[in-house]
Amino acid sequence: MERLKGKIAIITGASRGMGSSHARTFISEGAKVVLTDLSEKTGQQLAAELGENALFVKHDVTNALDWANVVEQAEQKFGPVSVLINNAGVLGPIARTAELTEADYLKVCGINQHSVFYGMKTVIPSMLKAGGGSIVNISSIAGIVANYGFPSLAYVASKFAVRGMTKATAVEYGPKGIRVNSVHPGFINTPMMVEATNEEGGDALAQIPLGRLAEPIEVSNLVLFLASDESSYITGTEHIIDAGMTAQ
Ligand code: NAP
Repeated sequence: MERLKGKIAIITGASRGMGSSHARTFISEGAKVVLTDLSEKTGQQLAAELGENALFVKHDVTNALDWANVVEQAEQKFGPVSVLINNAGVLGPIARTAELTEADYLKVCGINQHSVFYGMKTVIPSMLKAGGGSIVNISSIAGIVANYGFPSLAYVASKFAVRGMTKATAVEYGPKGIRVNSVHPGFINTPMMVEATNEEGGDALAQIPLGRLAEPIEVSNLVLFLASDESSYITGTEHIIDAGMTAQ
């Protein structure tokens, strides 16, 4: 059975890493998917590989006009949007608070946090036309605790904010049939993590109770569940997928 049959989804940051895994999973479960990313070439290639139920749109998630274009193209090609996965994000520089520049602080918060505001603000009217929907905001264990690592205060601030924005919007739009949840991955085997652990992530990796990184598909399985009607009574909550890191 196709678990996302009839769903029209937007996935940001879908050219690589977890976003590309979510896109593959959603297509295989029957969704029509708009993949968005700054990286146009790889995004176009992936959408072509995924076939007629996939559309790539170049998109900077910090740009409100780009968001309007993404939703317009989604509606034109497939119809009103029923699923939004706010996945695009950056780790930013690995710097302690006194060394973090204002420009880097604002950049990380723009991409990880403000994008989630633009995304929900722009997609919700389309979801209301669809009669409801599911929004999944990708936060991090850095949105649960601050002490597992190396991310800067900007990353932690943005990921805590996403958790709170998720709850606020879930409460507001529950009566309209829109569910909003956050996902908090631990250490996932993606280009972002590989780049980070080449720098200062080694010590944190040694603390993973299950003793390994996750593969992106392990997160996609959780995102799939939250996007699907199988999670119909779940909203406003955080879903940690971290091999026990934050249990310590
Ligand atoms: P990734 O491999 O770096 O992929 C992120 C994607 O987002 C890239 O394709 C990137 O495009 C895109 N992106 C960056 N800035 C953008 C912008 N302004 N507009 C549109 N797209 C943009 O990262 P990932 O590891 O899959 O992470 C996905 C999400 O999970 C992020 O929100 C991250 O914070 C979160 N997360 C990751 C981990 C982990 O262990 N990997 C753990 C916890 C949470 P470019 O390549 O062109 O920059």
